[in-house]
Amino acid sequence: MTRAAVYLPDRRSRSEGRSGPGRLEEIELDVLEVGSAHVVLPEATVRDERGGALFTGDGLGRGLVFDPSAGGGPMADAAADRAARAFGVVNAAFHTQRALRYVSGLLGHPLPRLLVRIGMHEQTRRWGGGHYRLPGQGVGADPDATSPAGEVHLGGGAGFVATSGTDRHFRAPAHNPAIVCHEVGHHVCRHTADFRLNRLRPPGQQTNKKRAVDEGTSDVITAILLDTADIYGWHRHRIPEYDRRRRKLDPRWTMAHFQGGRHGDPHADGTVWASACWSARQRVTATGADPTRFDTLLLLGLELFGRDNPAGLTGDALRERRHFSRLLAAMVEADPAMAPHVLAAMAEHGIHLGVSNNDLSRAARMGGSRLAADA
Ligand SMILES: [Zn+2]
Repeated sequence: MTRAAVYLPDRRSRSEGRSGPGRLEEIELDVLEVGSAHVVLPEATVRDERGGALFTGDGLGRGLVFDPSAGGGPMADAAADRAARAFGVVNAAFHTQRALRYVSGLLGHPLPRLLVRIGMHEQTRRWGGGHYRLPGQGVGADPDATSPAGEVHLGGGAGFVATSGTDRHFRAPAHNPAIVCHEVGHHVCRHTADFRLNRLRPPGQQTNKKRAVDEGTSDVITAILLDTADIYGWHRHRIPEYDRRRRKLDPRWTMAHFQGGRHGDPHADGTVWASACWSARQRVTATGADPTRFDTLLLLGLELFGRDNPAGLTGDALRERRHFSRLLAAMVEADPAMAPHVLAAMAEHGIHLGVSNNDLSRAARMGGSRLAADA
């Protein structure tokens, strides 16, 4: 175990005193090896790709304890930016390990190793986001993605979050637990439900296109890991909570807000699914059960979902796998005793078994009458 400084999840809002992406604490990290700009964990490797040595010279005597330096960035001096980058590698490693250990503990087996690369795709502009990539062609193709089991790419950071009257924090994704957890969530989806049937595609021809169910599941996994519905509340605090771009999980988001189709944003549509899952988790907890009861049925449901054996990579097989109701069916199969609670919460968001996303959306917009008439 190595001493490390990281941002632990912080449920507080900014008005309650939250001033950064998390609560700065020292913890013990299970690290196998520390290189000049990477750390190797039992379940993942995390690497800063921008060149230069981060983990040599001063500071290593204190393990992996570095000053986050308010995110570093272009306004910071060289020493502060180096410390911020070192902190970013360690913080991303901690949240990757924490997420993968929680998930594999509930699944009862490990997931394939994950590679996390920081400072990617910055040749032409700064990038404050992240994505999950598999090697392949088509939408979201990324020539830099080479690991068949999947990789997380994080930008080096872009822009600032104002933290108080004069202070500001550089938006470095590796410092932000919510961004790291969301991308690890996609790795969980890929190796359980496999919404895009990538296991039927050759290793070098995977697809990176993500559906709403994938984005929403990654968001609810993030909410579980951070223990808050306002997963992006720190860096999106300027977006009101009633705006779906905030992506706060909320009972207000129902299938009536689902767009779907070519013009729908899978992240915004995914918020409906994530919100319904969060409501279901609260409903399960209200019975006196531990919240991990819901987390387990979600993960076992994802795994059951991925266990079917379609005849091939057909349009129909892929289309069916977009439907929230199909994942819901697998979740209630995983824990029949909790099914009534999960189904009741989902129904409040307009999600019912055996109905496509578009039909659920149409029914919700018509106040549920159409679905009742068809049933
Ligand atoms: Zn995503």
